[in-house]
Amino acid sequence: MASPKMFDLSGEVAVVTGGNGGIGRGIAIGLAEAGAAVAILARNEEKNRAMVDELTKAGVPAIAVQLDVTRRDDLRPAMEAVERKLGPISILVNNAGIAIMRSTLKFRAEDWDRVIETNLNSCFFLSQIAAQAMVTRKRGKIINIASEYSRFGAQAGIPYAAAKGALVQTTKTMAIELAPHNIQVNAIVPGWIETDMTVGAQSGKMFEEIIMRTPAGRFGKPEEMAGAAIFLASHASDFVTGSTIFVDGGYAIR
Ligand code: NDP
Repeated sequence: MASPKMFDLSGEVAVVTGGNGGIGRGIAIGLAEAGAAVAILARNEEKNRAMVDELTKAGVPAIAVQLDVTRRDDLRPAMEAVERKLGPISILVNNAGIAIMRSTLKFRAEDWDRVIETNLNSCFFLSQIAAQAMVTRKRGKIINIASEYSRFGAQAGIPYAAAKGALVQTTKTMAIELAPHNIQVNAIVPGWIETDMTVGAQSGKMFEEIIMRTPAGRFGKPEEMAGAAIFLASHASDFVTGSTIFVDGGYAIR
């Protein structure tokens, strides 16, 4: 029988990239409420500080490390800083992401590289660093935040869709390799969620189209991503790996 204990994250240390806002914030708060200590890895110091203040005021052990995930040389020192302050990292949520929307004919090489580096490469390299330590401890949870565009084409978002599609494949492949070490690797596909990233789609024609297509008939809220993240971070999902959970109000089934 499932019990709340299966979802208890007491004693766990979770890293959430991009955890200072949007979906990352929703997930960070959820993991903290389930008992985990939380480290936020993101660039904006002010937002990082506000998030840590909010968590520590609620009694959660929390730190932020200022990090641009596209700077590969900074990834390992950031993860080491978390371990020094909070202890062994047992949960990694690769959430930091950007969207640059431009037509194929006009996409600039530097924008292509920035999206791929942020949304795909950083997820692999951070997962690699986390997994190297998790293997020695024989346990760990890696959660990648993908997108509906891992499955569908995206109007004017070629590298975004390419990165998210590859992230789902990375999830599956890494899951196979790490399963013998008791490390589970899974992905969450959010539907359309009310965050800074989707401000442009929260009104007008695009909004109407999204609402029409979403059986739930609305955008999701960042905190609604927390349930799947807690599940995938907890013992409740110890036999779940390589999977993708759609938290999208049914968008993908229509
Ligand atoms: P937001 O723009 O609201 O937040 C993005 C977060 O990522 C911020 O905390 C930002 O912090 C961080 N970030 C961006 N670039 C970097 C970087 N180079 N280094 C470190 N941190 C970075 O977006 P969402 O919350 O909407 O998106 C979160 C994830 O969810 C993304 O991967 C996105 O693709 C995915 N997603 C979102 C959907 C939605 O509808 N909102 C739908 C499907 C997927 P800072 O600027 O301080 O670095």
